[in-house]
Amino acid sequence: MQHDRAPQPAWLTTYHTVRHALLHLVAPVLLLVAPQRCGGCEAEGSAFCDACRAAALASAPTQIAARELPRGCDAAGVVGSYLSPLGVALRTLKFRAAPELADPLGALLATTVRTVQLELGGSEPPVLVPIPTDPARLRERGFDHAALLAASAAAATGLCSALILERTRGVPPLHTLGKVERQRAMERAIALRAGVELPATVILVDDIWTSGATFRAAAEALRAAGCARIGAVAVAREPLAAVGARQ
Ligand SMILES: [Zn+2]
Repeated sequence: MQHDRAPQPAWLTTYHTVRHALLHLVAPVLLLVAPQRCGGCEAEGSAFCDACRAAALASAPTQIAARELPRGCDAAGVVGSYLSPLGVALRTLKFRAAPELADPLGALLATTVRTVQLELGGSEPPVLVPIPTDPARLRERGFDHAALLAASAAAATGLCSALILERTRGVPPLHTLGKVERQRAMERAIALRAGVELPATVILVDDIWTSGATFRAAAEALRAAGCARIGAVAVAREPLAAVGARQ
């Protein structure tokens, strides 16, 4: 049985309005006085501390071997291992809603982007294109982590970033799938947005490199549209053994 709700008394409406306004005023001050914690180790002081940064950069080779390149990609690189503080920081970014972490993590991509840019060649600078996030995950989180990482990497390199790709359908979370299932799930799941200008050289940007299936779907869509040179960069690489173990 439903009851009609009685209208709120005026004093209560005023109370809520004042409280709301005060919280909005206080929130930025709280952000200023609350100590900033590292997304990798929770140490106070910065969003991603120097120790975590050093451990991340030392954690893995940055090149992706030619035989491992996803179909459609000409060059690729990652910053470090997912088993380093990078993995912790990426989980904090996505699952504990800390979009501010995209700034330092995206900036870490600068060297990798420049290396891939050199390998790709071409007379015009590449455009950084984030891998489009699944719309359901986007709604859950309220922000697009890959777009934020690409924007930060663009700011750190002086290149442009552009949202020219979109998902064509929902895909189950890939971490539940093995390598072959990932490829099948991502087939034609990414397409060029209608009406966008296609750059001659693109560097795709994502947070994690696992099987490369997502990069492959994005690269194939770009290649089919006529893109000449396609690279891919990710912040962290998940060991292939971990993927193989789930197949
Ligand atoms: Zn740290």
